Order: sequence, then structure tokens, then C-alpha cells
Amino acid sequence: GEKETFSLCQLLEEIIEFLYATIVDSDVDLSMAIDEPIHMFAYKDQLRQVLVNILLNSIEAVKEKEKPRQIHIAAHRQDENIIIEIANNGPAIPADIVETIFEPFFTTKKLGTGIGLYICKKVIEDHGGDICCFSDDNVTTFSIRLPA
Ligand code: ADP
Ligand code: MG
Repeated sequence: GEKETFSLCQLLEEIIEFLYATIVDSDVDLSMAIDEPIHMFAYKDQLRQVLVNILLNSIEAVKEKEKPRQIHIAAHRQDENIIIEIANNGPAIPADIVETIFEPFFTTKKLGTGIGLYICKKVIEDHGGDICCFSDDNVTTFSIRLPA
């Protein structure tokens, strides 16, 4: 498709609806905080793929841990950028692999492909943005920056 203008909040709501059964079956508390309307000009289908990938990884991560299983989505504008953060309270990603997770075919899962985060990084960088991950024992956060 072409780049188009759309509401980030609306896209996230669509995605949550699409993942709803998985979220409920996995007993995940999902919350979202977006205080202001955020309009994006981007390849919507590609951005949808990125957000679905990160959310599915987050669901798989929190399932490794005792409840409560929490995922929090936040977004805000910062100068000329839009920042989207997806955080979960699953197990920490060891510091020595937190950069490696974006490489193609890197997976720690028995049936993983290791291409999800590679595609995420490629799509975000193709949009002129970047993606990174911070992780400790309390929270793992994927942070996406996209030019507004
Ligand atoms: P896959 O999901 O097929 O393993 P990905 O590229 O989506 O491939 O992720 C690569 C690896 O990054 C995963 O195998 C996992 O080790 C790690 N990872 C990704 N997201 C998370 C997360 N939210 N919490 C902990 N580890 C994660
Ligand atoms: Mg994945």
C-alpha cells in the first residue's frame, strides 16, 4: 500500500480487538495510555505488523511468569517525533543479548523463527525512526521512535 494518515489510537484499538482472544486466554492485563490524539503518516499495514509482533512477543514473555501478567502501551509526542512504548512484566532479557534480539533468526524459543523483531527494526528504520529495548527484572520495554 501507500503511506497514509491514520490515528495511532484507532490502529491500536483494532490490533487489540484482533488479539483479544489471545489476550484473554493468556490471562493478560492489557492497559493503554494515550493522552492526546496522535495522527501518523506511515505505511499502516507495516506499522500494524510491527505492533502485532511486539505484542505477541510480550504475551509470550509474560506467560513465562507468575501472574499478574501485565502489558502496558503508551504513546506520546516528543518534539518532532512520536514515541510508542510497549512494556511487560515478563522475565528480563539478559544484558548480553538485548541488542542481538533484533538480528535475523535470533530466537530463544523452541519453535521461534527469530524474524519478528528483525522485521520490526527494518520497518521502523525504513520510516526514518528507531527501535530499542530496555529490560530488567521488573519490566521489559520496547520503545519506538517515529518522525511525526
Ligand atoms: P521469535 O519470537 O520467533 O523468537 P523475535 O524476533 O520476535 O523472534 O524475537 C527474538 C527473541 O527476542 C525472542 O526469541 C526472545 O528471546 C526475545 N524477546 C522478544 N521480545 C521479548 C519480550 N517482550 N520479552 C523477553 N524476550 C523477548
Ligand atoms: Mg516473535
